[in-house]
Amino acid sequence: MKNLLRTLVYNGQVSLTLADTTALVAEGKRLHGLSNFSAYLFGKALSVMTFMSACLKENSGEISLSIKTSGDGGEIAVSGNRALNMRGYIENTQLSENPNEEAERRAFAENGSVTVIRNDGYSRPFVGACAFPDAGGLDEAFAEYFRISEQIPTRIATTVKTDAAGKIVFAGVAVLQPLPFADAETLEKTRAADLSLLLCEMERIGAEATATKYFEKDERVWEMREAQYQCNCSREYLTRVLISLGEAQMREIIREDGAVRVHCHYCNTDYTFDGRDADELFIRK
Ligand SMILES: [Zn+2]
Repeated sequence: MKNLLRTLVYNGQVSLTLADTTALVAEGKRLHGLSNFSAYLFGKALSVMTFMSACLKENSGEISLSIKTSGDGGEIAVSGNRALNMRGYIENTQLSENPNEEAERRAFAENGSVTVIRNDGYSRPFVGACAFPDAGGLDEAFAEYFRISEQIPTRIATTVKTDAAGKIVFAGVAVLQPLPFADAETLEKTRAADLSLLLCEMERIGAEATATKYFEKDERVWEMREAQYQCNCSREYLTRVLISLGEAQMREIIREDGAVRVHCHYCNTDYTFDGRDADELFIRK
């Protein structure tokens, strides 16, 4: 399903992104077996990453975001690429608070920080960071990151809603980002825009209908794309890693531990390579 819309609004001076991230957040919750509050925090990070990935210009581009604190929130890391494949992990999978902004704030109150690494596929990656702001939750931290690190007055709102049974009923992100030439009146309009209303409407009628209802449709720039939870690990990739490790080393690990075991943090998948796999790998060579 095409779940991400990007276009320009306010006379082409502001970029609007609306994404329904329900399915990908639900997949992240399932893969990692998350509690509701852990899924809420992780889902917000996945949603903002969906926006950040949609901004990548190069096909080989990749971006990752990590949120860290010495408090209860621990670490959340999410990554995405130009194909809008999202993945990530959260250190504390069973946080038990009720999801809300106050609990978010408390979770990251101690030395909270946001770090972003963007790799456009050439030269050195861009690294930006900011401290968790004094007020607000994750959305305010994301906005602070854009303000400090990229000098863009970005409005950003994410939401993750769970029902009593723990099912993700809706997740989404709404972003308004002024372009460098935006005039004062447009900046004021952007500041005043009601992003929670856009998220509510998106849950009800979808991203495309929400955008046409609240903004004038710009036919020249109207992009619908599909974002999903998709890890890039594979048995084939790990096989290549093991071949480069060499037969002697692989045999030694198998002798000591019975098998080579690799765990992918991003999709919570275990890979096991035993003696028979080693035979196949190195006889084939
Ligand atoms: Zn994986």
